[in-house]
Amino acid sequence: MPDPKAKDELEQYEGTFRFRDGDYYDRHLVFDHVVPMDEANQRQRFEAVARSLRDLLTQRWLLTKETHHRLNAKQVYYLSMEYLIGRTLLNTVTNLGVRDYVRDDLRSDARQNWAEILDAEPDAGLGNGGLGRLAACFLDSMATLEIPAIGYGLRYEYGVFRQEIHVGNQVEQPDNWLLHPDPWEVSRTTESVEVSLNCSFEFHGGALHRIPGQPIHLLGIPYDRPVAGYGGRTINTLRLWGAASPDFFDFGEFSGGEFVDAVLYKVMAESLTRVLYPDDSTTRGRTLRFLQEYFLVACSLADILRRFRDRGNAWSALPEKVAIQLNDTHPAMAVAELMRILLDEARLGWDEAWDLTVRTLAYTNHTLLPEALEKWPVEMFQTFLPRLLEIIYEINYRFLGDVHARYPGDNWLLSRVSLIEELPSRQVRMANLAIVGTHSTNGVSEIHSRLLRESTVVDLADLFPSRFNNKTNGVTPRRWLLLANPDLAALLTEALGDAWPMDLDRLEGLAPLADDAAFRERFRAARLAAKRRFVDWIGREHGIELDSDALIDSQVKRIHEYKRQLLNILRVLAIYHRLRTDSSFDPEPRTYVFAGKAAPAYHLAKTIIRLINDVAAAVERDPLTRGRIRVVFLPNYGVTLAERLIPATDISEQISTAGYEASGTSNMKFMMNGALTIGTRDGATIEMGRRVGEENMFFFGLTAEQVASSRASYSPLWHYDREPETRAAIDLLSSDLISPGDPARYESIRHVLLEHGDYYMHLADLGSYLETQERLGKLWTDDPEGWTRKSINNVAASGYFSSDRTIKAYASEIWGVEPCPIR
Ligand SMILES: *Cc1c(COP(=O)(O)O)cnc(C)c1O
Repeated sequence: MPDPKAKDELEQYEGTFRFRDGDYYDRHLVFDHVVPMDEANQRQRFEAVARSLRDLLTQRWLLTKETHHRLNAKQVYYLSMEYLIGRTLLNTVTNLGVRDYVRDDLRSDARQNWAEILDAEPDAGLGNGGLGRLAACFLDSMATLEIPAIGYGLRYEYGVFRQEIHVGNQVEQPDNWLLHPDPWEVSRTTESVEVSLNCSFEFHGGALHRIPGQPIHLLGIPYDRPVAGYGGRTINTLRLWGAASPDFFDFGEFSGGEFVDAVLYKVMAESLTRVLYPDDSTTRGRTLRFLQEYFLVACSLADILRRFRDRGNAWSALPEKVAIQLNDTHPAMAVAELMRILLDEARLGWDEAWDLTVRTLAYTNHTLLPEALEKWPVEMFQTFLPRLLEIIYEINYRFLGDVHARYPGDNWLLSRVSLIEELPSRQVRMANLAIVGTHSTNGVSEIHSRLLRESTVVDLADLFPSRFNNKTNGVTPRRWLLLANPDLAALLTEALGDAWPMDLDRLEGLAPLADDAAFRERFRAARLAAKRRFVDWIGREHGIELDSDALIDSQVKRIHEYKRQLLNILRVLAIYHRLRTDSSFDPEPRTYVFAGKAAPAYHLAKTIIRLINDVAAAVERDPLTRGRIRVVFLPNYGVTLAERLIPATDISEQISTAGYEASGTSNMKFMMNGALTIGTRDGATIEMGRRVGEENMFFFGLTAEQVASSRASYSPLWHYDREPETRAAIDLLSSDLISPGDPARYESIRHVLLEHGDYYMHLADLGSYLETQERLGKLWTDDPEGWTRKSINNVAASGYFSSDRTIKAYASEIWGVEPCPIR
């Protein structure tokens, strides 16, 4: 007989937590965290909102999967070592169109604050720069276009490092982004896959030792994240692999001490996906990176082929049902791994296996920089993946046989196209493997695709001309315009209707409005609102008081010599010098914004960061310059910072040495948001100029052809000796104004520029850069209406740079896939 009083109390207690149907948020907040609602913090609120949104999309997510399976639809698999996705909450709300629903859901929580909830989500920084961000934009576009697609990557527990600036220097801090449980991910331990390596490790004397020939097995655990397309019809999946070690030990065999060793060994295995390598466009031949690449390939292919077979397909149907895109050479081992599975597990003959492999795989090249071309020591394959090495040798033997038959006697050609480099040491050339073993090799802008064919891999392009093609990059207008710039987005919707986020060519409808003074006024007001939002944020977050009327001039991207942040800061030094020495010089107020991470081992890039910060400090110290210009280095550049800064920017700096930036994508984000571009004729910036008309762009400097042809005779000292501003800027580097008491601080930079030949030709372009900047300054001051006209024209012409356009071209020209509408 229950105690009636207790029952009474229980009902009263339940009454305090009675939820209406659909009160997902309250339920998650209180029950997941076991806290009273008014004691929850913003992080817990974020998790609750995210989980309630996940509930909302779960059935749609299941339906997407079920439909793809039932229709046995051709499926795209995007393999990438990086996904720079940033935050997911606002993007999901935007794409599902559920702002009102969320607002409603949150109403019962008196202490909620939407801005703080959004800020409680860390950036998923599983990438370094453009390549990882491209993968994220592609996922958004594939889901929006209803293309059946799964992105495969690694679940790094530590993403790209968090950058702090200590007395002007970059300091790297670990980014423990999974510290709190991530509300988006679903771990699917039942779909784990096993990966084998032919080499084990043991730990003794505090060091790791290889035990070759002793096979080990690792587990890949899938962690799925939903990718909601705009409109919420298709919910695709980003599947990230985490490494684990199976409990295959017979623990009975171990006596006490060995038990602990066995567990330590497990921990080591699980370290495989612990951290993302922080190098952008360079490779360092580290064993762990090699194993990470194989782990991604092995887990993903096992999963892809299991799904393919589960749908009842015969092996011969592989290219009709599966399209695998390799994002750079990082997953290029897929060529050999797919062959291994088809030969050893499916038991196909070589010719059939090879035909299926080539027709299933496709490769995207991302850079022409020689230091970025991946090569792995043959010895590393021999140790860990001897079967893959055998297969690579066999591919190479047959391939070189074909080449020899076509060009008998040309041994020099054979050595150039071989998958194996012999000297100075034996290495596998991953780009050659990717080109030979796939049916498509694409570059990421017209100029990049051309240079790739004509110079970087000219011999392979001659052997396989039909495989080479171009797919100019794009960015998703949902994140980069609709979400990031609500004021401008609202104006666009008012002017053009609400279809533009899915059909960005509609922005062309703005072009006639550039001549409408009333519209220009409203356009300026929308841009100013975005600027004020940024200025408020930077004041709150960094205590920096900026003037929202000043021109904002931004260069934000990874710090690299070829991207030439150094050219930009030399220009600032020249302006600084002019302000100090020419009392009649009265430039427009300008804020020079820099942001970007340097690879931790890239010393010169880190010195450039220090220099930018020293120039910023010098300008503030100096009564002759203080308040007239501002220089700001914003720490920890990432997706969220880009979303804040790009809509507020007036001038976009795209100033790489021509021929070195494969495409660039921040150039496109800036254009969409109405910035004017100053740039070299490089990457996709060239195509931007063609679309908008060069009168709306500010090109300067040498072309790629001029860079190549003038290299041999180029003399930076010639410029230093003859150009007073160049000399003044460089001399400031060692002055007490910039490096007080430490004149040698920038000796390495001076050396690179003057004594070491200035490989990236900063001094060749500095003169025309300064002139072009001056033209921009004049336009800003003297003709604001003309400026706004150009700004509107840029937005109007940016439709082509939607990643939807890029993905449609991949889908029809490389993958042969069609949209698969979900009911
Ligand atoms: C777009 C983007 C990049 C790429 O910038 P580029 O200027 O094309 O090199 C890098 N990082 C982040 C966070 C981005 O959003």
